[in-house]
Amino acid sequence: MRLLIIDDEEDICDLIAEIGERNGFQPLALTNTENVPKTLGEFPPDVIIMDLMMPGTDGVELLRTLSEKAKNAKLCLISGSDSRVLNGARRLGSAHGLNVVGALEKPLSIQTLDDFFKNIVKSEVKTDGEDRNMALASGEFSLYYQPIVELSTRRIKGLEALVRWRHPDKGILLPDAFIREMSNEGLMGKLTEFVIHTSINQAAALYHAGERLTMAMNVTASALLDLALPDRISDLCKQHNLPPEMLNLEVTEAEAMRDVTRTMDVLLRLRLRNIGVSIDDFGTGHSSLSELQRMPFSELKIDKSFVTDSPDNNDGAVIAKSIIDLAHSIGLKVIAEGIEDERAWKLMCEKGCDFAQGFFIGRPLPAPDLAAWIDNWRKK
Ligand code: C2E
Ligand code: MG
Ligand code: MG
Repeated sequence: MRLLIIDDEEDICDLIAEIGERNGFQPLALTNTENVPKTLGEFPPDVIIMDLMMPGTDGVELLRTLSEKAKNAKLCLISGSDSRVLNGARRLGSAHGLNVVGALEKPLSIQTLDDFFKNIVKSEVKTDGEDRNMALASGEFSLYYQPIVELSTRRIKGLEALVRWRHPDKGILLPDAFIREMSNEGLMGKLTEFVIHTSINQAAALYHAGERLTMAMNVTASALLDLALPDRISDLCKQHNLPPEMLNLEVTEAEAMRDVTRTMDVLLRLRLRNIGVSIDDFGTGHSSLSELQRMPFSELKIDKSFVTDSPDNNDGAVIAKSIIDLAHSIGLKVIAEGIEDERAWKLMCEKGCDFAQGFFIGRPLPAPDLAAWIDNWRKK
């Protein structure tokens, strides 16, 4: 994979190049920005690591160039200024349609860089289209379930179904390795059908065993274009004798707001059938308050980028708090995603959040491990 480094400090370029190379990347460093447009043509990078503060231009200008010439590259921003500037630039990059995968503060440690590259390599496991199509037919996809619990009582509220691909050679793959591609290849419809059938089956099994747990499933905007979706889900609920209010469909904020009218149409149909709808990864898109109020969501999930580091990052904590208050003011329940330790748990409790999800509570589990996890949680 080609790695382009843009930083005016030569020793930093050397450090990044060395660690990148060790992780299997082919590095190229630019210490000034004049050659960026030309280089992007000659050396189309898979990954770009870029200093925001370059003499002669500002990072914002560079982001614009990248959005025109390197939309598919994974971008990591670095900066010596405070985390607020860095996070602002990160949002701006995403708003330009860039794939911003990291934001690192200077000084950079070897460990941080090494972790960064290792994560990229992990998420870059290449799967090909033929594989993906076959995998659907041969049942290589499966669902893992992650618990969601109520902060004030520790009661288990429900589960979120997360798709995994048990690849015969590559092991268990996460959605990042295939969802985007499947969506581009028109395979999303089939995957969504699998997810709906499997998670409703699982939800019904739990329900008939006496559990009262909600089951959340993720759907893309393209699934929401299908006007027959609400009826299919409601028919499946009838077949399984499962009350539809046990289900929640999650749509990301960015996707929901792309075509507000169309999304609203399907969301309303779902709500009329008593199926819950949640707005996922909230805070990463840009919905206006009035749009949010008009959309018939029943729940809001705060994106983990505001939650995980909130105990150490006051900006994140402040944003999380204002999202919680905003959601409550329009009658939505709030779930904080990405609770990784007790401090984040306590902080979200203090901020008045309703529910929590994250590694601190439980990792996504395959169905056969669920009963043991539930028992164990209730004993604690
Ligand atoms: P999401 O819906 O926001 O799901 C939460 C993601 O955060 C999951 O990643 C989960 O494993 C991860 N996570 C949970 N707790 C923690 C934590 O404490 N710390 C950290 N760092 N991460 C945590 P996963 O399973 O890799 O899924 C990524 C995304 O892929 C999901 O984000 C969702 O948007 C999408 N996705 C997953 N399953 C499906 C599916 O069946 N259909 C569609 N269309 N999209 C799916
Ligand atoms: Mg989700
Ligand atoms: Mg999310």
